[in-house]
Amino acid sequence: MGTRITRVHARMILDSRGNPTVEVDCHTAGGFMGRAAVPSGASTGRHEAVELRDGGLAWAGKGVEQAVANVNGPIASAIVGMDASNQQAIDEAMISLDGTPNKGSLGANAILGVSMACLRATVGDGEIWQHLSSGTTSLPVPLMNILNGGAHANSNVDVQEFMIVPHGFDTFPEALCAGVEIYHALRKVLKDAGLLGGVGDEGGFAPNLPRNEEGLRYVVNAISAAGYEPGTQVSIALDVASQEFCHSDGYHIDGRVLSGSELGQLYSSWLDDYPIVSIEDPFGEDDWDSWIEFTSRESHRVQIVGDDLYVTNPERFAKGIEEGASNAILIKLNQIGTVTETLQVIQMAKDAGFGTIISHRSGETADSIISDISVGTNAGQIKTGAPARSDRTSKYNQLLRISEQCSDYANVF
Ligand code: PGA
Ligand code: ZN
Repeated sequence: MGTRITRVHARMILDSRGNPTVEVDCHTAGGFMGRAAVPSGASTGRHEAVELRDGGLAWAGKGVEQAVANVNGPIASAIVGMDASNQQAIDEAMISLDGTPNKGSLGANAILGVSMACLRATVGDGEIWQHLSSGTTSLPVPLMNILNGGAHANSNVDVQEFMIVPHGFDTFPEALCAGVEIYHALRKVLKDAGLLGGVGDEGGFAPNLPRNEEGLRYVVNAISAAGYEPGTQVSIALDVASQEFCHSDGYHIDGRVLSGSELGQLYSSWLDDYPIVSIEDPFGEDDWDSWIEFTSRESHRVQIVGDDLYVTNPERFAKGIEEGASNAILIKLNQIGTVTETLQVIQMAKDAGFGTIISHRSGETADSIISDISVGTNAGQIKTGAPARSDRTSKYNQLLRISEQCSDYANVF
């Protein structure tokens, strides 16, 4: 059997923020080697699977020596000899070896690295997106984060991500081209306003702004300045990542403290005034009531996305579907920790009629598996940062390669 696993080997590599992460090689009897690298978040949800870090002084506490040892020791012993193409059996073997509900013993970073490397080894010199496809495929609409704030930037902007959504195009390459032109237009718009500083962790510009709403204004200006029509060709998506400014007395935004209802009203006013098609994490990860109130009022006109709320976890997501807490879900492999569970959550979302966005993390590597997953599962949307810096462009570039074979562009918005 060519896909029998003969060797599994992990090592530490560096991610885009200069922190250690786990890379895994999975070798098969057929002579293939699948390699995968694990991303890492900064504004992580409290309910995510555990990312094992060594602590201590070396690598500022962020070492992954233990996670690497867990792959090279117990995980390798358990799965060498298994069939790499039986993804579910491998993932279940690791989940039972770990024995905790949140992968806290072996580490989700160890487990996910192996899970993805097995997928790559199975596919060999084929295409992951084709391997995952069960019929219809399309290139995803990219949610491109061109203005960074929150935990990803050293600025006063509370909203973490102002994204452009180039939905009004026939092909992915045309949409990407618009996104790139708008990214460069935003640089000029900010420069002219004396606001051009550095970029954030995902490659978007990171200006200081007097109010969060100004970010919306600058992005609309950039869309127009690049010659595109806001709303019909290119719209806006936000990731508020509001957990980061959710405190015991309320949401601290724009120098004020708002209740969940008041914050929802602020978003509604933005929906009235700007071409916003998607809002992610508008409320905190345990503020279910505000999610439900906002979704019942606004889901007819905007996509409402749970990221920290669901953490790609089937139990939390089932509650969200049941209670109408949102109408879409952000999918991050390392929040749950295996390929199998990730694919199951994507299927749950489709069955419930929810939107699905396959997402990177703010700490990334050159690994572009999320591009293949977004096409293969026909997710419709991908979120992978600005079209700049190779940790982000590796995903866009893989989508360009795939677009040579699959020309359909998802019709989402
Ligand atoms: P993170 O941010 O990777 O830092 O968690 C991305 C997001 O919140 O969507
Ligand atoms: Zn998010």
